[in-house]
Amino acid sequence: GSLRRNWGGDIFQFCQILHSNLKVFHGRVNFDENIRVVDELRGLVSAKGTSCEGRFYEIPMDASQILNDPNRALGFMEQAVDDAADWGAEIVGLGSMTGIVGSHGQHLADRGPIAITTGNSLTVFSAYQNLLRACELTGINLGQESIAIVGIPGSIGAALAKLLTPVCKELICVARTASSRAKQLAAELGCELLTSIPDALKTARIVLSATSSGDCIDQNWLLPGSLVIDVAVPTDVIDSRVMRDDVLVLTGGMLLTPETMSRESMFIGFNHGMVPSCFGETMLLALENRRECFSVGRNLSIEGVLEIGSVAIEHGFDFSKLSSMGVPVDGQQISRFKKAVNRSRETKLLAGRSRRESLSCEGSVPLQNGHASHSQNGHATNSQNGHASHSQNGHETFSQNGNSAHTPFPSAIRPRVGGLEFSGHRPDGKNGANGHSHHLLDCNPVKQTLQDAATPTDLSRLAADQYQRYINPVLVALGKSSGFLKTFVRGDGCCLWDDAGNQYLDFVAGFGSLNLGHNHPAISNAVQSAMTSQAPGFAQAAVNPYAAALADRLVSCSPVGLEMVSFSNSGAESIEAAIKLVRIVSDRSRILYCHGSYHGKTLGALSITGNRKFQKPFSPLIDGMDAVEFGDSERLADALKSRKYAAFFVEPIQCEGGMHVPPRGYLNEVETICRETNTLFVLDEIQTGLGRTGELFCADHFGISPDIMTLAKSLGGGMIPCGAMLCRSQLWMKAYGSVENFALHSSTFAGGSLAMAAGLATLDVLEQGDLIENCQRRSEQLRAGLDDLASRNDLIAEVRGQGLLIGIEFNPLPTKIVRHFAAQDPTGVSHFLAPQALDAIRNLAPIYVMQTLLDEFGIYTQIARSMPSVLRVQPPLCVNESQIDSFLNALEKCCDEFSFSNRITDSMIAKSTVGKLDKKSPATS
Ligand code: PLP
Repeated sequence: GSLRRNWGGDIFQFCQILHSNLKVFHGRVNFDENIRVVDELRGLVSAKGTSCEGRFYEIPMDASQILNDPNRALGFMEQAVDDAADWGAEIVGLGSMTGIVGSHGQHLADRGPIAITTGNSLTVFSAYQNLLRACELTGINLGQESIAIVGIPGSIGAALAKLLTPVCKELICVARTASSRAKQLAAELGCELLTSIPDALKTARIVLSATSSGDCIDQNWLLPGSLVIDVAVPTDVIDSRVMRDDVLVLTGGMLLTPETMSRESMFIGFNHGMVPSCFGETMLLALENRRECFSVGRNLSIEGVLEIGSVAIEHGFDFSKLSSMGVPVDGQQISRFKKAVNRSRETKLLAGRSRRESLSCEGSVPLQNGHASHSQNGHATNSQNGHASHSQNGHETFSQNGNSAHTPFPSAIRPRVGGLEFSGHRPDGKNGANGHSHHLLDCNPVKQTLQDAATPTDLSRLAADQYQRYINPVLVALGKSSGFLKTFVRGDGCCLWDDAGNQYLDFVAGFGSLNLGHNHPAISNAVQSAMTSQAPGFAQAAVNPYAAALADRLVSCSPVGLEMVSFSNSGAESIEAAIKLVRIVSDRSRILYCHGSYHGKTLGALSITGNRKFQKPFSPLIDGMDAVEFGDSERLADALKSRKYAAFFVEPIQCEGGMHVPPRGYLNEVETICRETNTLFVLDEIQTGLGRTGELFCADHFGISPDIMTLAKSLGGGMIPCGAMLCRSQLWMKAYGSVENFALHSSTFAGGSLAMAAGLATLDVLEQGDLIENCQRRSEQLRAGLDDLASRNDLIAEVRGQGLLIGIEFNPLPTKIVRHFAAQDPTGVSHFLAPQALDAIRNLAPIYVMQTLLDEFGIYTQIARSMPSVLRVQPPLCVNESQIDSFLNALEKCCDEFSFSNRITDSMIAKSTVGKLDKKSPATS
């Protein structure tokens, strides 16, 4: 029972339990006190494809017995080595305590007959990697930290001290006694030597501990925000669980075996492939066919540590998984730690305590040298501790290594020593066509020292971790499992770049928010110039000239009759403004909308979004909303003649709903029916507006004049959130045109200067440039190519849309194939558990095409969430001819490939039992 309870937990503790359980049987089952083989290791295949096999020996002594009677332990170890050699082993690895006795493997190495390793070099490498990973996750900058190494002058402690001295602020060596070896090492490294652990822990919050005695660190001695990497076996940190939220105690020296390795053996399968590094080192030497003694003796070579570490990475071993007290660390633990540290920092800052005691976790106040700089315009500048530096205009800019902490980058990618760095834009503020100055993913200098995995995947892993932990775990998990998850770090025009520097064509364009493309220079210049001219941030109940100017421009370019503007920060907020407006002006409270529509996800907007899947979990929604068929003017007329609806909300093209274009003349009929029934006509141009369909507004194709029009998405130029609701002035006056009512509808950030500057520049670009003409030309090219492809490939059911707002509907997978998949689960349980599974199978084609376009052709598309048989194609309006050609060629290849595999699968099924059953008995269908 205790073995089963401990399965998957701390492997060292498990070994002890295993051992003591076996001792219980001793006598009863005639169990000799002898060495035993406790596990066979088979299928040890590395990511490089090399393989080895082995076995695990146990000697009948536990850790303290080994330390108390090393000679007896050595006797058992000699027996095990001889037995292994007889079995055919060519190398023996010693684990934990057995690696200490006999002069750290030297005795056995000298004795022969086969090579010996203590595994200590990889343990050091692994502990170091664990430290780096923990710092990465918690935002700790080693360059600012004091580190205590407990267990000097032990071989692991000494090697760690040598590795860490160059990268930390200060290193403290902690030895049991001030032996001459300990003193010599401290002097060599220029470090302080202490013999009291509590004293060391008063200064250092990073602790690496590798004593042979164990149980020497009381958790109460640790500073808040401490990070302990406990490499010792038995552990140095007292207690079998972490007692505080504000410290992180990690089991140092564990690593994850490659996925190619079989997990059948107990010691590998025990914790889903996490094993101690000493074991890892033995496997590596075997995989490399190196029959040489390694990590033997007291002095480990740093070159050896780095070399075995890089070999481990080549073979697919992974050091990024952290364990605490032997059990994997989850994201929650890291979040709790960061929060606890932040809280204690705040308390300390309030109490005015010293720098020494305050913490510099990323996200907390990063401090530098304690200098305060004074602002030019005489604002108060001195911080409590004198650490804050103030910018010219008096803003607090706590800086770290000279970099402003107020950067637009998330904390993890904020430029910092030891972090990942992004270079800025071109100094002239202009962005070259798809050719910005290169964003550097500077490697961590600490990691460069180690020549290890200093790859850009560091960024994507960190970002994915944080995204998974703090924003959306399901999205990341799904993305990871499908391989669809990308970390885009840069965008320019129609292109995106991931963190590995791969370029992608963006055919999603922020679902219509990037009509101008990524980082259009005119928008960044406008925003930057608003900033340099010190445009007011937000000033409510006052006149903002930027907002006034944008309102004026919007009114002049929008359909006839729209004369008033309410700004907002998103599409849904524009819709809310419209819902409220129609309710306040009308004595009818009901609203009519369309099945399949999408107007946003705030409660009001959701209430008129015709998708039950989005609505149902939040019901009851706002009362009085009814839906009618989209594109059917007769039904609309029927519904509206009841005269119970204040307004009819409609999109000119249903984008999210599956790119449905209504029949020609529908919108004109809507306008007429609304007028006749005295119903307000609300046109949602949030996605179709601002050039997307080949006119400034989709309404312009039909010459219609709605009573209310909503905008957002590209109004912010792809840079700043910005939305607007435009309406007839008499509506606004009726609603808000009184002293009591004029402030009834507002939003703090709506109409902010930067958003307005972006909006003005957007209209300039659309009205003065040739983006809209380009949209028309590229749309013709795209449609011609797609229609041609659809005529040749029966995978495509329909191509529809307008301008560069296109949907490709795919035919469902043939029923026979769907049935074949369904037949894999005769109980039907999987479909009960995942009701959408069959739908997903039916819509395999667009999913396959979307993924292949991304993975093989670097083209980013999305499927319509409300209609997953439709692939959405909506590149920025600046897309060029060859980019459209690339898309068409890639799409054709994907479709051909999928059709081909469909035919093969179909004929395989026809020849299989399922196919035969199918023919014989219709009942099986
Ligand atoms: N209306 C339409 C037509 C949309 O396409 C969207 C978003 O896709 C919205 C409203 C909601 O906009 P937001 O996501 O900015 O709230």
